[in-house]
Parts: sequence; C-alpha cells; structure tokens
Amino acid sequence: MAAVGIGADRMATLLCSEFGHPCAVHYDLRKNMCVYFCLDCQGLNEEAICFHCHVDNTSHRILQVRKASLSEVLRVVDLPGVIDITGIQIYSINGIRVIHLIKRSCVAYSPLGLKRRPQRFACVVCNRGLKDAVRFCSVQCKV
Ligand SMILES: [Zn+2]
Ligand SMILES: [Zn+2]
Ligand SMILES: [Zn+2]
Repeated sequence: MAAVGIGADRMATLLCSEFGHPCAVHYDLRKNMCVYFCLDCQGLNEEAICFHCHVDNTSHRILQVRKASLSEVLRVVDLPGVIDITGIQIYSINGIRVIHLIKRSCVAYSPLGLKRRPQRFACVVCNRGLKDAVRFCSVQCKV
C-alpha cells in the first residue's frame, strides 16, 4: 500500500471502525460525537474518539471522519502526508473536497433516489461507477 503517514495496522483499524456515535465516556458533554481517529495511538479501547477523548498527546495527528449521505468521508485537505490519495475518486460535498473512506457498496446505492446510469469509469476493485478517470472509489478499495 502506498500510504505515507499511516501504518498498515492503523489503516486497517480506521477502515473497520464505526464513527458518528456519542462518546460513552463523555456522554454529558457537548461535542461528544466520536468522529475523530488518532493516527498515532495504539490500542485505545475505543478507536473512534470524541473531541474530549484525546487531549493529552498534542503531537499526535488526529483525523476527522465526516458523515456524508450514509457514507464516511475524509477531507482531502487533511490528507497530505497521511494517506496517498492518488487514484481515488474525489467528490465535492457542499464545496468541500472529500474522498470516501469505506467501500460504498456497503451502502444502498440510491439513498437520494438517483437513477443508475451507465458509467464511463469504474473502480478497478469493486466496479463502482465513478465520475472521473481514476482507479479507486474509496480508501478501502485502494489499500
Ligand atoms: Zn493519539
Ligand atoms: Zn470521549
Ligand atoms: Zn471500489
């Protein structure tokens, strides 16, 4: 795999973690949704952590996972030096450039009632249709 800043172990963990639920430890605080992932911590109880879970290690690199129409995405601007996104389809959501983290075949294809059209380009791994002439639909398909 071509990732730069994240090890294979952490990448595998990132890809199988659930994000977007309230933190069990900080359930009574604001900003307690578990949408962060530390690239440097090993063996946390909870891999998806909230804003308050990770205050001690300021040198650690924290990645924020965003939810976008039932899928989990990463902002492209967060990724230089972390994940090599070469060849991964980039989408624009509300003007923010993102890539999909999880293989989108996990998710119903048409949550918004989109019609399935013949696709000019497709992911070389899962054959998901893509907008651009790139090879992968998501981080998961690339690693
Ligand atoms: Zn950490
Ligand atoms: Zn927490
Ligand atoms: Zn794919």
